[in-house]
Amino acid sequence: MTTEKINTPVPADDERAGNFIRTFIDEDLESGHYKSVHTRFPPEPNGYLHIGHAKSICLNFGIGHDYKGLTNLRFDDTNPVKEDVEYVDSIQEDVRWLGFEWHDKPYYASDYFDKLYECAEELIKKGLAYVDDLTADEVREYRGTLTEPGKNSPWRDRSVEENLDLFRRMKAGEFPDGSKSLRAKIDMASPNINLRDPALYRIRKAHHHRTGDKWVIYPMYDYTHSISDAIENISHSLCTLEFEDHRPLYDWVLEALDWPVPRPRQIEFARLNLEYTLMSKRKLLQLVKENYVDGWDDPRLPTIAALRRRGFTPEAIRLFCDRIGVAKRDSWIEYYWLEKAVRDDLNPQVKRVMAVLKPLKVVVENWPEGETKEFSAPYFPDEPDKMPFRPLTFEREIYIEADDFLLDPPKKFYRLGPGREVLLRWGYYIHCHDVVKDENGEVTELRCTYSEEPRGFGAGQGGQPAVIHWVPAASSIKARVRVYDRLFKVPRPKGDLKKEMSADSLVECPEARLEPSLGGVKPGERFQFERLGYFIADEKLHTAETPTFNRIVSLRDKR
Ligand code: ATP
Ligand code: MG
Repeated sequence: MTTEKINTPVPADDERAGNFIRTFIDEDLESGHYKSVHTRFPPEPNGYLHIGHAKSICLNFGIGHDYKGLTNLRFDDTNPVKEDVEYVDSIQEDVRWLGFEWHDKPYYASDYFDKLYECAEELIKKGLAYVDDLTADEVREYRGTLTEPGKNSPWRDRSVEENLDLFRRMKAGEFPDGSKSLRAKIDMASPNINLRDPALYRIRKAHHHRTGDKWVIYPMYDYTHSISDAIENISHSLCTLEFEDHRPLYDWVLEALDWPVPRPRQIEFARLNLEYTLMSKRKLLQLVKENYVDGWDDPRLPTIAALRRRGFTPEAIRLFCDRIGVAKRDSWIEYYWLEKAVRDDLNPQVKRVMAVLKPLKVVVENWPEGETKEFSAPYFPDEPDKMPFRPLTFEREIYIEADDFLLDPPKKFYRLGPGREVLLRWGYYIHCHDVVKDENGEVTELRCTYSEEPRGFGAGQGGQPAVIHWVPAASSIKARVRVYDRLFKVPRPKGDLKKEMSADSLVECPEARLEPSLGGVKPGERFQFERLGYFIADEKLHTAETPTFNRIVSLRDKR
């Protein structure tokens, strides 16, 4: 299979840290159009935030911070049926966890419902909006296509008085859902379909999580967004590319209302697409609701809550966002860059210890029965001065990783096999001279002898023994370890969950063993298990009785 060259995280100069956006902002400040910078992050509370939102958060709050300006958090809560306070709470938690603090208090588009309604009446009075009786299907029919102009609705020329009367009665709840809408009167022949009399209000008799049953008409996204930005004195409204064609409408609304200048300026950037995962909120919701994964914080998801539980740090996510830059065109980012940011962040700060995920018992026959020896091993082997040592116990019975032994090892397998020798990390050389099997022929135990010096049975060059990890059998701690991997097996999933999801995104190791020094670990503590990857004691499930670790990331990428 050939893979086309995928976007690297080395952004073009003007895309680094959103520099093309910064150039616009600099121009606007120099010209005196704006005195200061005020951005906003406007999530719709209809799901949990994901790594794509993190990109938008880093951009908006980053610019607010760098220009000594302000950044608002605004819930774009105009769709009553899909929204929920659970999401409002999780979004605030996630933004804070990423390391950002919003200006003042959380804002809500729903706080502007009165103002938005007033503005709509103003548009009607100016002859710039009308109540339409076409059904949704008819509206679609009348809209035309990319190549053909639309046609005017038969209701387009209602008088201002009639429009006002009908709009007020819409608000009073006199008409059923979908029977009428309020539309902007712009141009049904516009080459930009967004300007073909877009809807401003629709009837929706639904309970809203903040305004209750006060409203039965709800404002549409584009209309709400421009006015909300303007109310909050936003200077630069940064949004994803699919809104590029909506920008004329964004500007039209404020122009039509004679909104005082300076008005907010919309600037578009490319949304993040990350390989082997999905960003669509609808699909993420499906994964959660249909139990493909175990809740919004299942460590395999790209949600912030899941990445946090997986053990990613906010620093790593910010580093990733920084490195990928802010592009002007849509692209896919390799999963590798996310993992690399995590490794780069964890590497200097995380202690190295040993754990065995799939234990294979080794009896060291020339080690005296009942005797133990304690020695110490450094937490940071590459930087011996950095941290203290931890004690490690050697016993007659130890566990090694089952994958480090093969009955009939091929040439390139340098680890343990019958007649071979390896070095136990921080310990002795062991030489395997016997193998114990069960009735099915499965290897259940190795019989070895130890020595302080190598004896030339190693499988590496010149009999050089490989180094493997191990834990003592009696004094190690039993743990369950979950090895997480990519959720999808195809790099650019389209959303066919049954076909595209990977079967190995979670491998449970219920019999794992940890070295004794991991006895008092608290939830949320991170370690490198040597040779295996970075791991975190699970925030939700880890206890002293049932130690539970998640793999954050492997040590090497599989690009
Ligand atoms: P919806 O389809 O529900 O609108 P959304 O992903 O756009 O989904 P919002 O809550 O509207 O979700 O997003 C909040 C902000 O985050 C928006 O400004 C949006 O442009 C930005 N955003 C969303 N997804 C991404 C992404 N993948 N990359 C960068 N920014 C994103
Ligand atoms: Mg959106």
